[in-house]
Amino acid sequence: MIRRLSDRILLIEGEKGGRYPHSHSLYLRDGGGILVDCGSDLGEIRRLKAEEGLMAVLLTHYHEDHFLFLHQFPEVEVWASEEDAPALESLDVLLDRYGVAGTDEEPFFRDLFACKFPFRPRNVARRFADRERLRFGKTEAVMIVAPGHTPGHLCLHFPSEGILFLADYDLSAFGPWYGDKPGGIGEFRRSAAMLAAIGARTNVVSHEAPVHEGSIQAKVETYLSVIDRREESLREFLDRPRTREEIVARRIVYGEGRPGPWFDYGEWALLGKHLEGMIGRGEAFVEEGRYALR
Ligand SMILES: [Zn+2]
Repeated sequence: MIRRLSDRILLIEGEKGGRYPHSHSLYLRDGGGILVDCGSDLGEIRRLKAEEGLMAVLLTHYHEDHFLFLHQFPEVEVWASEEDAPALESLDVLLDRYGVAGTDEEPFFRDLFACKFPFRPRNVARRFADRERLRFGKTEAVMIVAPGHTPGHLCLHFPSEGILFLADYDLSAFGPWYGDKPGGIGEFRRSAAMLAAIGARTNVVSHEAPVHEGSIQAKVETYLSVIDRREESLREFLDRPRTREEIVARRIVYGEGRPGPWFDYGEWALLGKHLEGMIGRGEAFVEEGRYALR
């Protein structure tokens, strides 16, 4: 489904309500047609390409639910941030960013990127730096790098239209993702606060309810409080020393009834960041493969 955000900015709502493995896209009608992210709805993307053109696909970051349909458009230019471009150009770099290169999880991810989310290395023709201004025909966007989710995660601010695309700072009930190898809790918090402070009239995100009108300060606070809840649950579970396997099996992040290697990965990717912080602050330690509170 297409929703008109302004005369020249369209929202392509992702299939399944923009839930993983999908994400919402923007389509900028100016400049020959620019698609922002490529995991929404293949039928709508193809239709817009045929009717209005597709000059480039701008990826907010390198995650699979954002590049999902990119392999369908091998002839279209790819744009991304300076920091995230290498992961779109090389599967080895991508696997390293996920933190799975050389681990037991690598075969699962290699298979995921071969079949379910076909990854084809792409040359990133245009690379953006933080606060770079871009004109697509009559539309001006400011590229805002928001690290924490990925190091070069791009948000797009359209000052004249009062629209901010926050992409995966998505205000969802699930909460923030900071589990990539170069991701981090502190950076995620700072980026989310910075995005809320922009004070855009219309805030658009990649998953679930796409459009949030007016101030998002309170929604960002609720969203970031999920980080504290995860850490509290982890502390409660560490009432005695626990192994990585026990922590993963507890499903603190995803809840029970979510078996399989994807959720195993996600639990440890996120909770590992909490443990890293707790150990760094002297609140926890690891001994003989068991994590414990001090
Ligand atoms: Zn993402």
